[in-house]
Amino acid sequence: MHLDLHMHSTCSDGSQAPDAVVRAAARAGLHAIALTDHDTTAGVALAREEARGCGVRLITGCELTCSFGEQELHVLGYGLDPDHAALGLFTARMMALRQDRIGVIVARLNALGVPLEEADVVLPPGNVAPGRPHVAAAMVRRGFSRTIQEAFARFLGDRAAAYVPARGPDVSEAIAAIRDAGGISVWAHPALEDARAFPTLADMGLGGIEALRPSVPPVHSSALEHAARESRLVVSGGSDWHGGLPGLGSWYVTDRHVSALLERLGIDREGKDIR
Ligand code: AMP
Ligand code: ZN
Ligand code: FE
Ligand code: FE
Repeated sequence: MHLDLHMHSTCSDGSQAPDAVVRAAARAGLHAIALTDHDTTAGVALAREEARGCGVRLITGCELTCSFGEQELHVLGYGLDPDHAALGLFTARMMALRQDRIGVIVARLNALGVPLEEADVVLPPGNVAPGRPHVAAAMVRRGFSRTIQEAFARFLGDRAAAYVPARGPDVSEAIAAIRDAGGISVWAHPALEDARAFPTLADMGLGGIEALRPSVPPVHSSALEHAARESRLVVSGGSDWHGGLPGLGSWYVTDRHVSALLERLGIDREGKDIR
């Protein structure tokens, strides 16, 4: 069984609609996938319907944006009820925090002599995460910057004068929301040095870590897997595909790599009885 348990659709920042993601997975020979859009499960229903038609196993998923101390952290949720209120409440909290941040960024810009207003910053339909790209677009629209790139270089980039880090709800809230929705939480794309925090997050109820990814050398994956075992965390794997090239399916894990996770999700490794 070939699996990819981390990918995005147009419901967050991917370039393919949820049903097109599933068709791409089927064409590429993937047997099971999880659609893990940022802070929303809006694409799951359409993906599920398409998956039924083309024989791909769809594991429900999402990727919640949260904070762990000063660190931004992404937590994947698997096997959850996509319509559970806990997820909607989490997303509402996240949106409120991100909207507050837009206010702080705008105030910084004003202090720097750029008279942008918070009301100028608008989101495309369906987008749930107001952020710097929307501020940059508003600056271009109002004529305060020539291009998005210039807005980032002069004001919004990580070391620029109006930079304000994004704050999500605390990681414990993300883990609780996923648990309440019946799912398993997995730390998305942890760095090697994040292994130090595995015991702390395991105590909060984290279920696993994403140790297997296309860009991670095998020796790093092994170190992460070892640290995961010590904290009784299961291992997941995913490409974090957002559309484009390399295509979906050019990288995958097998059921043997993620057997403990599949077991916790109640998934038959022969693929006979997947819910
Ligand atoms: P945020 O989550 O609000 O901090 O925004 C992060 C997003 O801003 C990234 O996903 C990029 O799309 C965009 N971004 C970050 N830095 C730059 C940059 N220097 N130039 C253009 N876009 C950027
Ligand atoms: Zn993304
Ligand atoms: Fe992520
Ligand atoms: Fe992702």
